[in-house]
Amino acid sequence: MSASERRTPCRGCGSSDGVRAFLDLGVQPLGNAFLPPTEVAGEPSFPLEIGVCGRCHLVQIVEPAPAEATNRVYRNYSYVPTGETLARHYRSLASDIVEVVRPRAGAHFLDIGSNDGLLLRSIRERRPEAELLGVEPSTRIAAIAREKGIPTIGGFFDAPTAEEVRRRLGTVDVASATQVLQHIREPVALLRSVHDILAPDGVLVLEGRAYFPDVAAKVAFDTFYHELLYAFTLHSLEPLLAQAGFVVFHAEHQDVYGGSLRVFAQRRESGTREVSPSVDTIRSGERAAGVTGFEAYAEFARRVAEVRRKLLATVRELAAAGGTFAGYGAPSTGTTLLSYCGLGTETLAYIVDDNPLKQGLVTPGTHVPIVPSSALTERPTDYVLVLAWRLREEIVGRLAPRRGKTIKGIVVPLPTPELVR
Ligand SMILES: [Zn+2]
Repeated sequence: MSASERRTPCRGCGSSDGVRAFLDLGVQPLGNAFLPPTEVAGEPSFPLEIGVCGRCHLVQIVEPAPAEATNRVYRNYSYVPTGETLARHYRSLASDIVEVVRPRAGAHFLDIGSNDGLLLRSIRERRPEAELLGVEPSTRIAAIAREKGIPTIGGFFDAPTAEEVRRRLGTVDVASATQVLQHIREPVALLRSVHDILAPDGVLVLEGRAYFPDVAAKVAFDTFYHELLYAFTLHSLEPLLAQAGFVVFHAEHQDVYGGSLRVFAQRRESGTREVSPSVDTIRSGERAAGVTGFEAYAEFARRVAEVRRKLLATVRELAAAGGTFAGYGAPSTGTTLLSYCGLGTETLAYIVDDNPLKQGLVTPGTHVPIVPSSALTERPTDYVLVLAWRLREEIVGRLAPRRGKTIKGIVVPLPTPELVR
């Protein structure tokens, strides 16, 4: 039986043979497990294959890496969202929540995966009397949130944590989880725990990147890494939510993180809000993008293979003519891109990244050193491969003073490989 005909169990609807693989990204390390050069021996890696369920349409990793491996990454996670774009995004999410939900005065807000409290602080600006509580798995980041005045439980949101929330808040009026559900192994269990502590007319707000129609449109295969278990659509979220007793009453597409889906859900048995036309609009857009069939996924995989072929042809031609390369940006997505394309230290002398927490480490799997951007002056390179291609405009702008001088060209890998001279 060929790989594409093999069927495996679905983590969404539980169907025992629902998932059909459509994209094999090879053996991959954990995307966020940047490591010191002294620790590369014995680095774990696992097959990364993506499939879709024929019943509930949930795009998922066919065989996820062991939980103990990915959980370690979250506990040690040190990424705090920075930059005006994200701050603005969370302020606008807070406004949207207040506008769509119209919470009562003194409402109880719970944010799951609350990071440093960014969303809850924005809620507080609009509802100073609200009671707020965050739950954050990284103990270090939970401590930062408390320093910023947001009560935060350090830990994963599981049944004992839900009990702790109940002790501290009673029932919850608005529960939110942004960039969370796509990392959860038992998503229905998490949603049921939220359902248990939600007030009868309470609302659950979910937002997540890796919205599949956007991933497909941009051929953004690097969206997938071991820690990201699913790429959602409204079509696949609705059956998950239904299993936990929720019904979606409002949905929005957001441009943030390369394309995200925001949904508002209420308890099926006691929610009182009217279902807005936005839900049907998103659903029909998804049907037009082919998310309910298999062909759109197969076509995506064909385009991914074509990108790799073109990118390697470009890089090899420039290297054969004596060109040297460095990478720009070391996001977790770059881990997948480099490993899948087989680009490592034989091609890239180094990767520049301005996050001081990553400098001095090497990329997972391919072990390319990560250095400050001053390296571009100290060790000039002929070509720059933009791994953080979602920030293309910004990066091409930053490199402008060097172009035509030390830098001969910039290679942008996606949505289609391109050499910018
Ligand atoms: Zn399914």
